[in-house]
Amino acid sequence: MTGPTSLMTGDAYLESLRDGRQVFLDGERVKDVTRHPAFRNSALSVARLYDALHDPATAGTLTAVDEATGIRTHRFFKPSRSAAELVEAREAIATWARMSYGFLGRTPEYKASFMAGLGVNAGYYGPYAANATAWYREFVSRALYLNHVIINPPVDRKRAIHDMEDVFVRAVRETDAGVVVSGAKMLATGSAITNAGFVAPVGSAVLAPGKAEAFALVFFVRMDNPGVKLVCRTPYATQHAGSPFDAPLSSRFDENDSVLLLDEALIPWEDVLVHRDVERATGFYAASGFPNLYNFQSGTRLSVKLDLMAGLLARGTRANGTDGFRGVQAAVGEIITMRDMVWALTTAMAHDPEPGSGGTVVPRLEHASALRMYNAQVWDRVHEIFETILGGAPLAVPSSARDLANPELRPLIDRFYRGSDTSALERIKLLKLAWDAIGTEFGGRHELYERNYSGNGEQVRLDALRWATRRGGLARCEDLVQQCLDDYDLDGWRRGPWRDVALTD
Ligand SMILES: Cc1cc2nc3c(=O)[nH]c(=O)nc-3n(C[C@H](O)[C@H](O)[C@H](O)COP(=O)(O)OP(=O)(O)OC[C@H]3O[C@@H](n4cnc5c(N)ncnc54)[C@H](O)[C@@H]3O)c2cc1C
Repeated sequence: MTGPTSLMTGDAYLESLRDGRQVFLDGERVKDVTRHPAFRNSALSVARLYDALHDPATAGTLTAVDEATGIRTHRFFKPSRSAAELVEAREAIATWARMSYGFLGRTPEYKASFMAGLGVNAGYYGPYAANATAWYREFVSRALYLNHVIINPPVDRKRAIHDMEDVFVRAVRETDAGVVVSGAKMLATGSAITNAGFVAPVGSAVLAPGKAEAFALVFFVRMDNPGVKLVCRTPYATQHAGSPFDAPLSSRFDENDSVLLLDEALIPWEDVLVHRDVERATGFYAASGFPNLYNFQSGTRLSVKLDLMAGLLARGTRANGTDGFRGVQAAVGEIITMRDMVWALTTAMAHDPEPGSGGTVVPRLEHASALRMYNAQVWDRVHEIFETILGGAPLAVPSSARDLANPELRPLIDRFYRGSDTSALERIKLLKLAWDAIGTEFGGRHELYERNYSGNGEQVRLDALRWATRRGGLARCEDLVQQCLDDYDLDGWRRGPWRDVALTD
């Protein structure tokens, strides 16, 4: 390996979180997220990712030198300049994803989907171009962990954004030091254990020129900003504090979703990318390649998650002794095609890219759009299959690991809970993993996540239509219709072989 590295180690990452950030849970301010049971194990899971950047066994797969800066970084944190580099970036994403079995959705490379293009595309940000360059350098050199919040809170959706001064994020005033902002954004996933947030209007936001300038803001906010409060949802990691045996996923991969509250937060000028510019405040999505790239990251991560689910269903049916039934086999086959489909889409995205800024390439938007749509649907079907094929088995398990430690119960458990192909202990362990994936509160949150994280279902479809209209894809489909219509008219065939065939018996 060549190239200097200042990439965070696991310990450096954990230390970076001890910065006095204001995280609220159960009516109290969390003193140290790295020690609090609601966040500790998730922070450790992320720390493990950082350690893998330095581990000789994985560093080669995960990192490469960024051509533009000479800095060694995660392969997806820098832009790719060829299809081959996108393939390598995908392997780096998958390597990290396998460390959480795909159950950490917002690992640090999620936001690399935007940040990787920030250096080559700095000019887009006009007066703030130097900020883009500086943030890119800091991002790649440390592999910063950023959260991203773009959705306004669910209130008064019927009203214009510029009428929502009391709740939506806006510039309150400007000072020599920066912009003072107030307002809330929903759901800052993982934010309690990130270094900074990226705050912007959602791409579909309608920002009226002459009225919505105060809302036309894109900026970074460091998590120790005294004007920032994170109000967390109910944590899942603490619900099964007894043993990982009972909740092997929620006990270590719960990325708490918080509402980000900005209360007169001063955002230094060097952390601003767009200010009072209604064009750039949403135009940056298309200009940055973010939709092309975040779907690449999400699809790769979901592919790994589907690998786990395919294996889990196969083993679960064997344990239940249903694996010989034709319908059950068909269901396992269906899950396999679902993981094959998502992997195949990421393969297309890597091997058939389109030009990005400054000599870079990004996955083709049409592939990204198809994957975004499919990803949002596939998890519902996984739930349906698991609930149909495993039936009530995931609940036919003792309440906790402690039951297996009870000497009075254990011989009975060993006898009555045995699997068809395995011991009672192994069967219970397997089914508790399945239930955590689909049925616990953590599992339910994953269903909500996969369906919504990329936008509401209508917006996903509307964006597909908008992109196909803008890029000519829909016109090509309509041209094909015209070709078909032009084959014939009222007088019969206008062209083609059919014209010469005599209509006689
Ligand atoms: C687990 C989880 C994690 C998340 N993490 C993040 C994150 O890290 N960062 C982030 O920014 N967001 C995050 N989100 C938010 C996510 O992006 C939104 O939930 C998603 O975009 C849908 O928006 P919404 O929830 O506001 O639903 P809505 O947009 O309100 O959609 C709900 C329904 O209302 C309809 N609707 C809403 N507005 C209109 C309108 N103007 N016209 C017509 N119909 C309308 C929609 O068609 C839809 O059927 C997360 C969400 C979840 C569930």
